Amino acid sequence: MLMSNDLRCADCDYTEIDAIYERNDGPPVCPDCGTERTPDWSTGRAPAISGHGPGSFAPRDMGVFGVCETKEDYTRVENMIKTRFPGHSVQVENDTASDKRNRSNDARHRLWSERKKVGLDARQVSERNIEKKRTKGIKNAKVLNNKPAPAMK
Ligand SMILES: [Zn+2]
Repeated sequence: MLMSNDLRCADCDYTEIDAIYERNDGPPVCPDCGTERTPDWSTGRAPAISGHGPGSFAPRDMGVFGVCETKEDYTRVENMIKTRFPGHSVQVENDTASDKRNRSNDARHRLWSERKKVGLDARQVSERNIEKKRTKGIKNAKVLNNKPAPAMK
């Protein structure tokens, strides 16, 4: 049985959007570094090809019915709609190709900025911390000065 998830590498944080793999085989290893990967929900909604077991259902926004976080929620809403609109079937709109691309770009950008942060050398980091402390001190001083004078009795 095939399934689809966003997969995040435990080592290098490479994130693949909507990776499709054989359920019995489990998620394939990271194409970048070969480390095992786990399903990742942080990048947003991922349509599951087969939504059966826990973890394989992607949360869906059902409009006026709210967001369904689990398959049980989804089935409940689906039944509710079917009862209210007999003879109608429920069709869930999945993400469009551009939604997927945007989520993929967001994930890449997050990774890039995390690496950039880590890439600062030790001197830069300590300078930045000193600067932060300095400006914080000034802000606190301003707050103290702005305190209204105690009312005279
Ligand atoms: Zn990796």
